[in-house]
Amino acid sequence: MRDLQQELDRRRADGLYRTRRVTDGPQGPELVVDGRRMLAFCSNDYLGLAADPRLAEALKRGVARYGVGAGAAHLISGHSSVHHALEEELAAFTGRDRALLFSTGYMANLGVISALLSRNDSVCEDRLNHASLIDGGLLSRASLKRYAHADVAALDAQLRHAPGHKLVVSDGVFSMDGDVAPLAALHETAAAHDAWLMVDDAHGIGVLGPQGQGSVADAGLGQDQVPVLMGTLGKAVGTAGAFVAGSEALIETLIQAARPYIYTTAMPPAVAEATRAALRIVAEEEWRRERLLGLVQRFRHGAQRLGLKLMASSTPIQPILLGDTATANRWSDALQREGILVSAIRPPTVPDGTARLRVTLSAAHTPAHVEALLAVLAEISERQLPQGRAS
Ligand code: PMP
Repeated sequence: MRDLQQELDRRRADGLYRTRRVTDGPQGPELVVDGRRMLAFCSNDYLGLAADPRLAEALKRGVARYGVGAGAAHLISGHSSVHHALEEELAAFTGRDRALLFSTGYMANLGVISALLSRNDSVCEDRLNHASLIDGGLLSRASLKRYAHADVAALDAQLRHAPGHKLVVSDGVFSMDGDVAPLAALHETAAAHDAWLMVDDAHGIGVLGPQGQGSVADAGLGQDQVPVLMGTLGKAVGTAGAFVAGSEALIETLIQAARPYIYTTAMPPAVAEATRAALRIVAEEEWRRERLLGLVQRFRHGAQRLGLKLMASSTPIQPILLGDTATANRWSDALQREGILVSAIRPPTVPDGTARLRVTLSAAHTPAHVEALLAVLAEISERQLPQGRAS
């Protein structure tokens, strides 16, 4: 029999052991972690809405009206009027014909790709796509090809030889690097080969584009250019769940065929009510995006002054490249000792030799928070850990 304990011990020895932290209190820049107050730069709550009292009020209103659980899947008796209203609002928000709610982004990605493709088809994915997109490709049993990151020429070569129906899939904003996909070029290449284009905008919705409509809108592309748009609701929008937006025929196809849609309980209706409130705030409160951008610039200037290796990102995902796993773990531990929480991201989540600290910023941070992070980074890089410095 497989020796699980031995495998776990090896994982620990390699510095790749994953553990959970227990947090307390509402989501925000200052978190209680394992009983200790810390300053956190690792959530995806980009607009600072996860603990917004208006969302909490909407959730309570939802509970008073709809109770707690949805009780069943959407296709049985779980699809309430508030889910339906949220879907209509998401379609309007993204400028698409229709939208469909999923319980999580992971499930949305599994559902869409496996519903659109089967054994004799092809899916081409950016090498740095989120795990759920890769898993969706595997689940579909289509031929799965991964092109070098953002390399449209490599994609073009793959599409040339791809059998069956073809789907090109990319993150809009890459979750571990923070850069934006070359969306217009992806569209042109996909269109030249009669392939669909799907964009997972988990990290772009709420953050980029007019009214926070995301990276696709920011690139000036609509439903005709990006026929399959996926977004999550647990990041900038501050609640939970996900959606897919596109044509009437796409959404009806997903309702018929997306197994992670069909065979799971609908999200609690009160969460849908809270999400409706969040969506209005996302669209209206432009100052949150402005403030976030200001914090991103402040962080980048400061980190560059320290000689840290940043990546080509203008989004709130601002990784510091450190190289090997041990260095990333050391930096993360050193920050933690100073009361600052930043996740070390290690292989296999990122390629070997590119372990990093994934700093994420939120509109709920203040300039003083960013300065506090920079001060500790300065100390660490001065003290002992030269690998983090740009050569
Ligand atoms: N896509 C991307 C790019 C993500 O970063 C994530 C979440 N980390 C997901 C999909 C999955 O979304 P969810 O957390 O709602 O399952």
